[in-house]
Amino acid sequence: MIIIMEPGVTQIQINNVIEHIHSLGMKTVVNSGVVQTVIAAIGESSKYSTEQFEALDGVRKAERIQVPFKLVSRDSHHNDTVITIRNTIKLGSNNPPVIIAGPCSVENEETLLAIAKVAKDAGAKILRGGAFKPRTGPRTFEGLGKLGLEYLDIARKETGLAVVTEIMDPRDLELVCEFTDILQIGARNMQNFTLLNEIGKTNKPVLLKRGLAATIEEWLLAAERIMDKGNDQIILCERGIRTFDNKYTRNTADIAAIPLIRKLSHLPIIFDPSHATGKWNLINPLSKAAIVAGAQGLIIEIHPNPEKAISDGPQTLNFKNFQQLMKELQVLSSVLAPINTVSK
Ligand code: PEP
Ligand code: MN
Repeated sequence: MIIIMEPGVTQIQINNVIEHIHSLGMKTVVNSGVVQTVIAAIGESSKYSTEQFEALDGVRKAERIQVPFKLVSRDSHHNDTVITIRNTIKLGSNNPPVIIAGPCSVENEETLLAIAKVAKDAGAKILRGGAFKPRTGPRTFEGLGKLGLEYLDIARKETGLAVVTEIMDPRDLELVCEFTDILQIGARNMQNFTLLNEIGKTNKPVLLKRGLAATIEEWLLAAERIMDKGNDQIILCERGIRTFDNKYTRNTADIAAIPLIRKLSHLPIIFDPSHATGKWNLINPLSKAAIVAGAQGLIIEIHPNPEKAISDGPQTLNFKNFQQLMKELQVLSSVLAPINTVSK
């Protein structure tokens, strides 16, 4: 931590700050400039808030040098983390992008199975589908619950695809863990600290979506909380954020977050072009943009009849458009392969 004093402070004020730092068990290095004095507090400064130092007389500003998200930071773990799902799927680092596809909501067994087969044949490795749906208004379809999980399990057994589904309530943890390979924490629950703490105590891979209006740091601190409880199997997912402009898109797709996360963290990052845009016809170009930017996977909503989907139809690809996108991604991956061997 660096403590910057106000210009013209007295030696007594400087000494008080130094004494305070020493009383907390830290060492100091003092740099006295012509106008201002800067004091470096060396030791376990992460235990203390910057505000605590800014409250001292004569202090203008206290700043951290280290990031607050230590465990997930690349500073603490240089190499990319690779998450292995069902012993076969490798997500992260320079492995080929993992495609996750499926309906927004699990609707019925027959449709889910049809979707799972198309997803698998096109090259997807993981089936998505919500059984517990976070809906903004009450009196809307909130998912099939346990029945939805059972359908996902049938699709998983029939196709061999892994499954990811959202969990909203820590009380459902045991049930959801039984039926899924990856626990999805939705945007609305990114800061549901009870849920993060409980998932952190499991060893299930987690798909942690960025909150609706979460900063990069808040998002990484949510991942830090899960890892702090012991679960290091975390995949981050950029799914668009709220900005001033929502006339033509549902959210603003923050593509810059992808290379940024890869620089700041060792965790893998994937992109959700469905929720990031809210528009099916933006999914293809945004998927490709995300892969070029370094996304290590995509999660895409697909349905045989998007216009009839119970939720999120406008941001859902039909089978034909999904198959076309998968072909184009294949071409893109081969073009990118030699480039991706260079570390990000
Ligand atoms: C979803 O994946 O269907 C979903 C609700 O996503 P998000 O939490 O990103 O809105
Ligand atoms: Mn959805």
